[in-house]
Amino acid sequence: SVKNDTRGGYSFYTPKMETKFSQHLDLEMGLRRALTNHEFVIHYQPQFDTDGHAICGIEALLRWQHPERGLLYPGDFIHLAEEVGLIGYMTEWVIDTSIRQMKTWVDAGIAPARMAINLSALDLKRSNLVEEITQALDRHQLAGQYIELEITENLIVQDINIATQRLTALARHGISIAIDDFGTGYSSLSYLHQLPIHTLKIDRSFVQDIVPERSGRSVIDAIIAMGHSLELTIVAEGVETEAQRHWLAQRRCHGMQGYLFSRPLPTEDVARLLEATATRQSLDAVLPGVGRE
Ligand code: C2E
Ligand code: MG
Ligand code: MG
Ligand code: MG
Repeated sequence: SVKNDTRGGYSFYTPKMETKFSQHLDLEMGLRRALTNHEFVIHYQPQFDTDGHAICGIEALLRWQHPERGLLYPGDFIHLAEEVGLIGYMTEWVIDTSIRQMKTWVDAGIAPARMAINLSALDLKRSNLVEEITQALDRHQLAGQYIELEITENLIVQDINIATQRLTALARHGISIAIDDFGTGYSSLSYLHQLPIHTLKIDRSFVQDIVPERSGRSVIDAIIAMGHSLELTIVAEGVETEAQRHWLAQRRCHGMQGYLFSRPLPTEDVARLLEATATRQSLDAVLPGVGRE
């Protein structure tokens, strides 16, 4: 640790840090290459209504198909992309690609109500964000109503005025806003009045804490009650068990996302799932066969 390394003087830079530094450089060069070589892909995770029969939404989740390291997840590279200033290019690509995909599904008559796209903390700061999104909608001839942007509470409170300005402009185009990982961020709730928020996504950690026997006394109970009273759509993340699904359905949570229903899936697999719901085929017949990440 740094404490041990500095004990004898000021030698702060250790071989271990050097390795870490060059790993960062590799990763940064890798990210630049990935952008030009089209190594990013999007997997889509459906959101289900509470009885698990209908798909009400779908979330675009970024992956990096690394030529040597295999499929990488956002946790492996988003933070660095933010640090080195590449996140904006990645967001732009995600926006364009997921909007184009949604348009295809709308035309095929199998689109769910909304496609959710995650924004990074730095995206909201960009003055060109609103234009970037509305231009992508124009380019692909898709109505804003089909798009939901997922942002975190921390992102909003960093600059509430900028957030209000940008999100209000986006809402004027019919785009809806979801608060992602709700309950884990900054705790002031005053922004809920100030911003055009449509959806609360309850963080997975609260869903994991659901204890069926104990009712009406948990944080997640309070979150759901608040969501109802503010007339927001409530979506639970990370639903993994039937007991959790049942508990959430009883409390009139509107949507659920999690491994119990489906993992994030490559485009072709999720398209099969959408087709099955659109044609009222039994999802049970399709789900076991769909690909695994
Ligand atoms: P998130 O937006 O909260 O997305 C939910 C994460 O939970 C996803 O991880 C998803 O694969 C995972 N998940 C879904 N259901 C379950 C479940 O039942 N159990 C468990 N244990 N996990 C589940 P993923 O795809 O690794 O993404 C992690 C985070 O990276 C996302 O969290 C989001 O904040 C960020 N992210 C993903 N795509 C993008 C993107 O295009 N741009 C930006 N800026 N961030 C992104
Ligand atoms: Mg999300
Ligand atoms: Mg989330
Ligand atoms: Mg989360």
